[in-house]
Amino acid sequence: MEQIDILSLSPEALRAYLEAWGEPKFRAKQIFGWLHQKQVTEFSQMTSLSLQLREKLEQNFCINRLNIERRLASSIDDTVKYLYRLPDGNFVETVLMDYHHGKSLCISTQVGCRMGCQFCASTIAGYVRNLTPAEMLLQIYETQRDAGCRIDSLVLMGIGEPLDNFENVVAFFRLLSHPDGFGMSLRHVAVSTCGLVPRIRELADMRLGVTLSVSLHSPDARRRSEIMPVNRKYPLPELLEACRYYFQTTGRRVTMEYAVIDGVNGTKADAKKLADCLHGMQCHVNLIPVNPIAERSFRAFRKNVEQFEQELRRLGVNATIRRTLGSDIQAACGQLRRDASQQIADACGGGSN
Ligand code: SAH
Repeated sequence: MEQIDILSLSPEALRAYLEAWGEPKFRAKQIFGWLHQKQVTEFSQMTSLSLQLREKLEQNFCINRLNIERRLASSIDDTVKYLYRLPDGNFVETVLMDYHHGKSLCISTQVGCRMGCQFCASTIAGYVRNLTPAEMLLQIYETQRDAGCRIDSLVLMGIGEPLDNFENVVAFFRLLSHPDGFGMSLRHVAVSTCGLVPRIRELADMRLGVTLSVSLHSPDARRRSEIMPVNRKYPLPELLEACRYYFQTTGRRVTMEYAVIDGVNGTKADAKKLADCLHGMQCHVNLIPVNPIAERSFRAFRKNVEQFEQELRRLGVNATIRRTLGSDIQAACGQLRRDASQQIADACGGGSN
C-alpha cells in the first residue's frame, strides 16, 4: 500500500491521527513544526519525539522528496531553474528568481496542462496529473535547501493551470500560511490563471489575500479563442466581470498578463480594444515579449512590445514590460520538462509525445 505523504496533511488531519493513537494534543503541532518549519527529511530527525513514536510515524507515513534532475543557473542574472523529478518519475519545473525585494519562486501545479494555449510549451504534450499539496510545498523546501536561502514570495506560474487543481492548491495555501508551519503570508503569493471564471469567483469568496494574475493575451474574442481555447468556454466579458468581482471582494488589484506576439495581438487597434476592455478597472498590465517555443513560430520584436506599451500608456492603461529573467536558461515554463521527456522517450526508443 502506498504510504500517505505526511507533508500533505493539515494540522487537523494530523491531530486526528495522533489522538487516535492516544498522543497528547500538542503532539500534532510539534510534528507540524518539524515538517514545515525545520523541514526535516526523516522521522529520525524529530528528536523531541520518543523513538517509539518516530517508528510508528515511519510505519504509517512517508516524507517525500523531490530529486534535482537538472539545475540551470543563468549567467546573466541570479535566476536558477530546477527540473525536479517527482516520486512517481514525472517532472516539473521550478524557477528561483532574485528580485530587489527578495527571493521569489515560480512553482508548478500540475504535470502538463489541459488548457491548450497555443503559445505555451507546458500544454503541448497534454495533461498527466495534478500535483499534491506536498509536491507544491516540496518545490519550496527543496529549493531552499539547495540554494541556502529563504523564499520570500511565490508565484503559481509554472507548469499547469492552478485553478484546474483547485482543491489541492487551496490546501497548499492553507499549509503554506499556517502559523505553526512555513508561515508565509498569502499576500506574498500570486496565482495565475488562463481564466476559469467560476474558480476565480470561488477564490475571491475565500478572501485568502492572494494576488490574482489573469492571462489575457488578447482583447479580441475571436483571436483569444484561437490562441486560448478556454475563451470558448469562459468568454472575455464573463472573465472581466469575474476580475472586477475579485477586486471588489478582496480589494486586491488584478494583474493582466499579456504576451505580445507579432502579427497576433500587438497592433494599435489591439491596444485600443484592450484599453476599452479594461476601462475603469483596478488592474495592471504586464507585457511579456512571447518566448519562442520549438513547436510554434510565435515571435516578438522588442521594438514592437515597446510601441505597444507606449500606446497603452497613452490610452491611460497602467502597463509595464516585465523584466525577463533567466532568458539564457529557457525560463519560459514547460520547455525544460518537454526537453527532458523527449530525451527520455528517445533513449527508450519511444516516439515523441
Ligand atoms: N496556467 C496558468 C499559469 C501558467 S503559465 C495561466 O495560464 O496563467 C504562466 C504565464 O506564462 C501565463 O500568463 C502564460 O500565458 C504565460 N506563457 C506561457 N507560455 C508563454 C510563452 N511562450 N511566452 C510568454 N508567456 C507565456
